[in-house]
Order: sequence, then structure tokens, then C-alpha cells
Amino acid sequence: MNIYDYRLDELKEYFKKNNEKEFKAIQVYEWLYKKRVKSFEEMTNIKRDTLEQLKNDFSIERLKLLTKQKDIDVCKYLFELKDSNKIEAVLMKHDYGNSLCVSTQVGCNMGCAFCESGRLKKVRNLNAYEMVSQILQVEEDLNIRISHIVLMGIGEPFDNYDNVIKFIDIVNEPKGIDIGARHITVSTSGLVPKINEFSNNSKQVNLAISLHAPNNKIRNEIMSVNKAYPIEQLIQSVKNYIEKTNRRVTFEYIMLDKINDTEECAKELSNLLRGINCYVNLIPYNETSHIKFKSSKKEQIMKFYDILKKNNINVTIRKEFGRKVSAACGQLRSNYEEEK
Ligand code: SAH
Ligand code: SF4
Repeated sequence: MNIYDYRLDELKEYFKKNNEKEFKAIQVYEWLYKKRVKSFEEMTNIKRDTLEQLKNDFSIERLKLLTKQKDIDVCKYLFELKDSNKIEAVLMKHDYGNSLCVSTQVGCNMGCAFCESGRLKKVRNLNAYEMVSQILQVEEDLNIRISHIVLMGIGEPFDNYDNVIKFIDIVNEPKGIDIGARHITVSTSGLVPKINEFSNNSKQVNLAISLHAPNNKIRNEIMSVNKAYPIEQLIQSVKNYIEKTNRRVTFEYIMLDKINDTEECAKELSNLLRGINCYVNLIPYNETSHIKFKSSKKEQIMKFYDILKKNNINVTIRKEFGRKVSAACGQLRSNYEEEK
């Protein structure tokens, strides 16, 4: 077992079982997440035989950093897992803080037509510690603190639900990394049963829905998950979520040239979202060499934006990060494999 896979309450339970005081768990957590030690030996206030026990029971290894690509406001990392699979994380510097885009799976089974991550079918889920480790490694490499987490890297978080919830619990822990729930955003392509489950989660985590189309016809073409959970069901589950949690939801909408960016689409989208406590994030598409889609023209994005505005939909256009560093999720891994 990797020690970064343990929630604080699980670590307390572990010590209790070994007839030790529970507060040792807090001490260990502080060594790991406040002082950031990398070996058990460095935990100088823990007695010798306890350390030996910990060493027997846990690994304290982090992910191996393979390569990174750096730009002014973005740094993209490629990590190798123990089984030599590769995943990515992207650090973005905003005026409000540092945000890390975390991967949740090796590959993705949702098969969205525009997405580089989905070109590799899911190999496996990431464990919580492999997600936690992305944060620790990036913070150490750049000597910064990460204030925001977005689960928008490789993978579909809700197809790895339990590990993702565990990861959120671990990074949210005040005695640990202590990132506020309101600073954590989970993005899903629309797994309706999991959205329903998530509405029972007590934490104030943000939910983002990758909508990308205003109707089933277009959505079926670009997101095959829509065939399992069509738009009406998706919107209904979001409405239920908002009702239960009283939280505002973000709809992500990638702007794909001549696919979903017409004025007609903007009007249809406005009608679909009317009255829902949400905002829409228009995302300039990051073109990739393997996929035929093109990004919408700037003027078209502005037109689309204006129509939503006129219809009283809260809308923003996402700042573009790191075209130079292949910032769309999955691109770095894919390029790395090709170069080899
Ligand atoms: N699987 C989840 C989270 C990971 S993808 C989901 O789909 O929501 C995170 C976001 O990046 C999604 O909104 C996805 O549609 C978007 N995305 C994928 N490829 C992209 C690209 N090439 N350019 C811009 N956004 C992209
Ligand atoms: Fe998977 Fe999200 Fe990419 Fe779709 S957009 S293939 S759900 S990672």
C-alpha cells in the first residue's frame, strides 16, 4: 500500500489497530503534507519501532517525472507510473492562484471524437495516491503551492468514482494539503448515475459538465456517451443536483468549427439552459495533429458569446493556455510515444 493512498481517518484506524495512539496519524500526515518529507526516516518524532512498522506496511514513493514542457503561464508534466503507463498533469498560473489539471485514468473509454486522451482506450483507473502524487511532484518541481485543482486531465473522473472521491478527501484534509473544496472542480462528460450520486456528496466541490452540443443529434456525433445518457437525462440530473446542493454548475462548450458553433446552436443552447443556475465556459478548441476538428474562428466565438449573453446566460470564454506546449489533455503523452 502507498501511504499517499490513505485518508487521515484510515491512518488513524491503522494506528489504532496496531495499539498505537491515533494522533500519530496526524503527525505522519504533517510530515507528508506540511513538511513534505520523502522517507520515513525523516519523521524524527516517531519512535524507531513504529517507523519500522510503517516501512514494512507502506511505500512512500511518488510518481516518476519523465519530461516537462514549460511556458510563461503553463507547465505540462508527463509522469510514469509503476507499471510504466504514462499520464499528464498541467499547471496553469492564473491571477487568482495556481491551478493543476489532474489526470484520473490511463486513457479514457468515453470516446469523444475531438479528444486526444480518448484515442487511448482506458488501460486502468488511477489510485488516489497517483492523483495526490501529481500535486506533490509539481509543487516540488516549481517550488509553489497549488491553490486550485481541476479534474480535467486524462480520463473520466466519474468512471473512477470511488478513487476520485478519496483523492478529494485526501487533498481537502486540513491536516494535509488542505485545498478547499470550493477550489476543486470535477469535470464529467455526463455519466448521469454518477452525477446523481455526486449530488449526495457533502463537500462543496464544483461540478463541470462537458456539454459541447445543444442537441442530441450533434452530441451523438461528437460524444458517444450521449447515446447512453441523452441530453434530456443529463440536464435533468444537473437540475436535480442544483436543487439538492444549491450549487451553480459549469457547462463546458468546446468551440468546433462548423460543428457546434453556429448561431442556431447558440440559440438552441440558450433555450436548453434557460432558468438553470449555471454558467457556460466557451473553450477554444486545441487542435491536435491526429484529429480532424478545427477550432472555431474568433469572430464566430464572439458571435456565439453575444447570443448567449443576449439570452441572459452567464457565459465566459476560457483563456487559452499553452498551445505551444500541447496543452490539450493527452497530447504530451501521445507526442512522447511518437518520438520514441
Ligand atoms: N473526461 C472529463 C474530464 C477530462 S476532459 C470530461 O470530458 O469532462 C476535460 C475537458 O477538456 C473536457 O471538457 C473536454 O471536452 C475538453 N477537451 C478535450 N480535448 C480538448 C481539446 N483538444 N481542446 C480543448 N478542450 C478539450
Ligand atoms: Fe474522455 Fe473527457 Fe476526452 Fe471525452 S473529453 S474522451 S470523456 S477525457
